[in-house]
Amino acid sequence: MVSEGANSNTLIIGSTGFIGRFIAEASLDSGHPTYLLVRPASPGLSKTTHTIDSFQDRGAIILTGSVDDEDFLEKVLKEHKIEVVISVVGGARILDQLILLEAIKSAGTVKRFLPSEFGHDIDRADPEEPGLSMYNEKRRVRRAIEAAGIPYTYICCNSIAGWPYHDNIHPADVLPPLDRFHIYGDGTVKAYFVAGSDIGKFTMKTIHDVRTINKSVHFRPPSNLFNINQLASLWEQCIGRKLPRITISEDDLLAAAKEMQIPQSIVASFTHDIFIKGCQVNYEIEKPSDIEVCSLYPDTPFMTVDECFQEFATRVVVDVSEAKLAQKSKSSTTNDFILVPNAK
Ligand code: NDP
Repeated sequence: MVSEGANSNTLIIGSTGFIGRFIAEASLDSGHPTYLLVRPASPGLSKTTHTIDSFQDRGAIILTGSVDDEDFLEKVLKEHKIEVVISVVGGARILDQLILLEAIKSAGTVKRFLPSEFGHDIDRADPEEPGLSMYNEKRRVRRAIEAAGIPYTYICCNSIAGWPYHDNIHPADVLPPLDRFHIYGDGTVKAYFVAGSDIGKFTMKTIHDVRTINKSVHFRPPSNLFNINQLASLWEQCIGRKLPRITISEDDLLAAAKEMQIPQSIVASFTHDIFIKGCQVNYEIEKPSDIEVCSLYPDTPFMTVDECFQEFATRVVVDVSEAKLAQKSKSSTTNDFILVPNAK
């Protein structure tokens, strides 16, 4: 049996973030007692407050504090008998997880720790700077967890499904383009695009699965393997028209990385690693510490990229309708083509 305790108290750190929201949703869906560590509310962050309120309405227990407060974390872990910790903190907070790890060691309650990974296998991928520095920090956290003997799972979910903008902080936070495509290199290097909801769903499956203890879990659903030329064609089918393609060369991506504009340059260096060097597909899953998610849960389907893009297209239609209404109320002339507000 794969389950090692179906109802463990689970603490998520970073639940209001881009990836963290999917993890928190999935934890609440799965029925685990879900504790969310959130920072004290900052004025003006109404979007975050709304997210926290909606999690609380669904039964999440909110704990206010910071990931770099060791005493507080130790107290929380002990008091709530936390058995699973999932960290989804962002790039600027990766090394704070060393403080979290100290608290986990002292509390002695945690049976599984998932550090903030949720991307590539950082021991294999070798991006240019500034992405490399972030990976070096993630590698430091991995080595510290392994040395501490805390059972862990590293989630290597590859790319979140969406249009992979090289100059945006969060790739799929912005809908695919309506004006033109940026094609990286010759557009033929493949990568895995996984729906955010599936990143959450399959992450939650791993936390009580004895087969994933001290493993890197790789997300490689065959149906979600696409190159960027194919992604562009798929999006054109969804919106029913062709868009021009502009080539972003390897040199362009490296130049964007060299600008050292953080975090955009980090995203540019990862884009180079994915679409020029093929970092998601240039190795076999063969080490004893590796496991592929479809081999673990063969009966649970992944949302296809087609389904994700159809859903994005629905949102574009809604946004365009709203933009047209707003336009009409301002002037009597109508526009046949209006760019949606949140499309790049
Ligand atoms: P975000 O920056 O979107 O979110 C970070 C979260 O951490 C927020 O909830 C934030 O809270 C919280 N946080 C920040 N500081 C503290 C603190 N001191 N104490 C407690 N919580 C804090 O992160 P991402 O979602 O972008 O990144 C999470 C992980 O996912 C990273 O490892 C990243 O590399 C990876 N990733 C993977 C992607 C993929 O395509 N596979 C895409 C993007 C990220 P607050 O709301 O208060 O700011």
